Amino acid sequence: MRIVWTGIAALALMAPASAQTLGEQVKAEMPSLMTIYADLHANPELSFHEVRSAGILAAEARKLGFEVTEKVGGTGVVAAMKNGAGPVVLVRADMDGLPVTEQTGWPGASKVRVTTDEGVETGVMHACGHDTHMTSWIGVARLMAANKAKWSGTLVMIGQPAEERGAGARMMLEDGLYTRFPKPQYALAFHDAAQFPAGMIGYTPGYALANVDSVDITVKGIGGHGAYPQTTKDPIVLASRIVGALQTLVSREISPLDSAVVTVGSFHAGAKHNIIPDEAKLQLTVRSYTDDVRNKLLDGIARVAKGEAIAAGMPEDKMPVVKVDRTEYTPAAFNTPDFTEEMAALLKTRFGEQRVVQMPPVMGGEDFGRYGREDKSIKSLIFWVGGVPPAEIEAAKTEGRTLPSLHSPFWAPDAPAVISTATEALATMTMELMAR
Ligand SMILES: [Zn+2]
Ligand SMILES: [Zn+2]
Repeated sequence: MRIVWTGIAALALMAPASAQTLGEQVKAEMPSLMTIYADLHANPELSFHEVRSAGILAAEARKLGFEVTEKVGGTGVVAAMKNGAGPVVLVRADMDGLPVTEQTGWPGASKVRVTTDEGVETGVMHACGHDTHMTSWIGVARLMAANKAKWSGTLVMIGQPAEERGAGARMMLEDGLYTRFPKPQYALAFHDAAQFPAGMIGYTPGYALANVDSVDITVKGIGGHGAYPQTTKDPIVLASRIVGALQTLVSREISPLDSAVVTVGSFHAGAKHNIIPDEAKLQLTVRSYTDDVRNKLLDGIARVAKGEAIAAGMPEDKMPVVKVDRTEYTPAAFNTPDFTEEMAALLKTRFGEQRVVQMPPVMGGEDFGRYGREDKSIKSLIFWVGGVPPAEIEAAKTEGRTLPSLHSPFWAPDAPAVISTATEALATMTMELMAR
């Protein structure tokens, strides 16, 4: 397949690309892109371990004449193409799979099993569709290389590790993404979407995805016999009060016009019916859009935990331990509003009004937000590309079942629709931003 592709690439670089429309060029690339997709899909890698995937991106970009640097921020890839004066445009794909055992029933399903860094044995799957992101990235690289005569500027394409850990973007930036390489004026990315039809494009001006913080609370108690509670300080009762009181943060302390989530997703304590344990552990996910709401929630959680412990009569040295790393989190993805509207108008012209729709923001997280947050003058946009086969939407409706979400072992996107749409959309925007 590789030999065939080299032939096509060589031909494409020689001239005929300009004779074809961008859509026709994408169509011509699809068989080769789907071969790459099948390979990436069958060989997913967990966060921080995207070595093989990064190698594929790097090799493809190198063949096209990009200047490629590997191991940027861990396994990250930076592929730059300097093509005359003009703006710098960054196009990003994330590369990691998830510790999920695939159950799509696809013939090409992932059979990969690994032991995680935490020692858990698990299947690995591209359950978030980052394989469609990487494949489209290669599609965009090919189109941009083939159409070099039509644009002027610097294209910086990056393969990012560890998005699922909310760490990869930060690691690439800390490793000099904006100092060792040209700093962008524009940053673009897409994410496949599990809730709307294949080939549809969704965009959200302003906040599109949320701040995501993880909080661990260790609620201390004084253990003892379940029959003599008066001799103990019961951490289960105290932790229960904390969980209850936390519900008032969003409902009573945050404006109803702001979005916020505090979910206690894990509550562990005790080992036996008649023993009051000396500790309970809570794990929370905390979501917001603005820095202000985020700070109010995180401050509020610490205050509630301590306040309830005081109310329960806990001694000073047994206050709950609230652990949250305020720098290591997934910041909200903010799409520069006027830039988003401009790009949406451009996409509507190319794909038609029906295929490009405005979407409400979601409380999911995406660390793509860091690329724009690093320097507010950078205009950034992450958009959605629908991946649900229309027949599947109809079937789900008649059978009254919900569609699998991203991260589901059943998430089986219409990959050709996602990849062809995303490749054409990203190439359209990138060429427009650097048009000669
Ligand atoms: Zn994900
Ligand atoms: Zn994702």
